[in-house]
Amino acid sequence: VAGVADQDVAVLGLGRSGLSAARALRAGGATALCWDDNPAARDAAEAEGFACRDLHGPGAFDDVAALIVSPGIAHLYPAPNPVVAAALRAGVPVDNDIGLFFRSFATSDWESFDTTPRVIAITGSNGKSTTSALIHHILTATGRPTQLAGNIGRGVLDIDPARDGEVVVLELSSYQTDLARALTPDIAVFTNLSPDHLDRHGGIGGYFAAKRRLFAEGGPDRAVIGVDEDEGQYLAGQLAEGPTDDRVIRVSVTQKLTGRGWQVFARKGFLSEYRKGRQAASIDLRPMRGLPGAHNHQNACAAYAACRSLGLAPRVIEQALHSYPGLPHRSQIIAEAGGVTYVNDSKATNVDSAAKALSAFKRIRWICGGLQKDGGLDILLGATGAVAKAYVIGREAAGFALQLDVETEICTTMAEAVARAVAEAEPGDTVLLAPAAASFDQYDNFEQRGDDFAAQVLGRLAG
Ligand code: ADP
Repeated sequence: VAGVADQDVAVLGLGRSGLSAARALRAGGATALCWDDNPAARDAAEAEGFACRDLHGPGAFDDVAALIVSPGIAHLYPAPNPVVAAALRAGVPVDNDIGLFFRSFATSDWESFDTTPRVIAITGSNGKSTTSALIHHILTATGRPTQLAGNIGRGVLDIDPARDGEVVVLELSSYQTDLARALTPDIAVFTNLSPDHLDRHGGIGGYFAAKRRLFAEGGPDRAVIGVDEDEGQYLAGQLAEGPTDDRVIRVSVTQKLTGRGWQVFARKGFLSEYRKGRQAASIDLRPMRGLPGAHNHQNACAAYAACRSLGLAPRVIEQALHSYPGLPHRSQIIAEAGGVTYVNDSKATNVDSAAKALSAFKRIRWICGGLQKDGGLDILLGATGAVAKAYVIGREAAGFALQLDVETEICTTMAEAVARAVAEAEPGDTVLLAPAAASFDQYDNFEQRGDDFAAQVLGRLAG
């Protein structure tokens, strides 16, 4: 990190990103003063030679230049974090690893793209990882040097120093955008907005405000905005100076966009790009094996728009879209046996993403449930038309099942749910794990839940 030499910088939270911030600060000549309420995490930091300082103590922020807070720490809501509050009281700037990254990664002007590194940052409620991985895949396929970082891939402070002409593709969650003091990507992408993480951001308004920070004054040279929700429409309108402003590319999968600006939309399996009222390109999205469903067309449109911003040709992007292999736990086909397809969408941790997954398949045996999020299941009720039956897992399976409008069976465990779904599936069915809930009641994370699903499926089919 640049500009921190000889300074004392406090680091709160010593997980993956906290430790990598401490290392980057040390490499930049600063002294990292580390704290985590968990003693084991402090031991890990001390084992790496970092000094620990109790940031709850009196005078903890004397002579401290900044406080770096981990994304996992709720700093404001539902209650102010005492350490963050103490730093603010002492007049110490609060930042995070993303802010440190942008602070030292000063990009120069737009024209010199071929000779300076670029940053594309992606945020939104759903589709961030898929869109980020797609952009990275397209750039790789065209021979452009690129690194994937942030919420997906490597920690943002762990990537290699970017080379000239390289593109850093950065996935950013609202947990990361809300505190970063510098957020200056060259291209920023907003995929969509639906309720999520409301407990952390004080409601949908705070959640949108956190994401909106990526598009602040002095922010990106180009903004790719999904306009299928009111918030995206509003954001695009706010950023564009007039209807033909090329700074904004509007993306939709629900409407044929008719403005005179730069726009990309998907309809009936084809992507269209319009610029200044004229069609600039049409692309066939149907051969995208790694990206089933209309929601993935949204991700493809956003990735296409970001890559067009970099000057890549439509045909080149089309070929790369067709060769994209998909990501684990996101609409990932685990097995096909006896005419039944088994799909792992464990990453569908909120109701909107699960509803999208349900719309992508025909006759579904749906494994759902887990730790329910705020906001209720209402969005799901209109989306269960293709569900033959739901097999509900989770500690609160009975309560979850009560809220659904389809035939349900309470299974509680993944093993039971898979056993029942395999036994009842008929040729043509899709057995789909799309929980519409977090995994923490039964698993460490959604990956572990998806792996369990895959193991149970493969075990059943083998036996
Ligand atoms: P994120 O990184 O934003 O969580 P992912 O690409 O990992 O997004 O996808 C998360 C889940 O959301 C997937 O399981 C998929 O079913 C669903 N999803 C993916 N893209 C979209 C989209 N554009 N709109 C709605 N849901 C989506």
